[in-house]
Amino acid sequence: MAVAVSVNGRITDGDHAVVSVFDNGFVFGEGVYEVLRTYGHQPFLYDEHIERLRHSAGMLGLPVPFTNDELLAQIRAVQAHAEGKEHYIRILLTRGVGEFSYDPASCPTPTVVIIVKPLAETPDSWYEAGTRVSLVSVTRNHPGSVNPRIKSNNLLNNALAMQEAIRKSSVEALMKNYRGELVECCQSNFFVVRDGAIHTAPLDAGLLAGITRAFVHTLAGELGIPSYERTLYEADLDTADETFTTNTTREIVPVVRIDDRVIGSGTPGPVTRRLIAAFRRHAAATSLHPAQA
Ligand code: PLP
Repeated sequence: MAVAVSVNGRITDGDHAVVSVFDNGFVFGEGVYEVLRTYGHQPFLYDEHIERLRHSAGMLGLPVPFTNDELLAQIRAVQAHAEGKEHYIRILLTRGVGEFSYDPASCPTPTVVIIVKPLAETPDSWYEAGTRVSLVSVTRNHPGSVNPRIKSNNLLNNALAMQEAIRKSSVEALMKNYRGELVECCQSNFFVVRDGAIHTAPLDAGLLAGITRAFVHTLAGELGIPSYERTLYEADLDTADETFTTNTTREIVPVVRIDDRVIGSGTPGPVTRRLIAAFRRHAAATSLHPAQA
């Protein structure tokens, strides 16, 4: 089976994976998720992802009905049925089946879904020539509304932003927060490189605490590249030497154009390239020695 899915422990192919239409995850978007990828079939930064899943669930008051080890065993069982050189792993945890009620007590049993499918390769050209991103008009969710710290199954904010980017033929949508600061993209975090240092918006600007974002800070430390969390503005794009995005499936992606703005030299810069190389060294080590990663 190319795609394998577990719904509450029942493993099937993608076509036979079924969740009730009365699930609050479907009816209200009430649930959280994680996306991991593998290197050498080993889920990368597993503990970090599951810690974030617990944090997201906690922000919804959603119980997490497994230990990290139990979930990993389930993931491996689903992986055993899936095809692919490397795997994309999506874990969804929803409030469960209810009766159109917002009362959590009416949904006592959460739904747990694990989807494993072949990882879609990102084109080499994205890393070699860089990508184009659009700064979109859709505002990132206000943290006092649906907090972007929650990796929520309710992805309407992200979907609307990406639709705008697609209309502009871009591969990602860069968003501002309600204060007009640059925060993150709809599927990735965003970094600016200037004078050899990397800068990304702070978590309290209202963004997802990306696992790759945190890992890039660690890599920067190893490489002696200064890294800062600070408020970013649109004007920072005019003075940036380089920009890049980070996410789990695409790692570190150079951004050389933001709409009609050319960033720096218009090609992936040296800091981004060093970080990509360091990331890949770690990923390769993970696939050989998962316990040491
Ligand atoms: N920001 C948003 C809105 C995302 O959806 C994602 C990933 O999907 C990220 C950032 C990057 O997070 P991570 O590095 O954990 O994949």
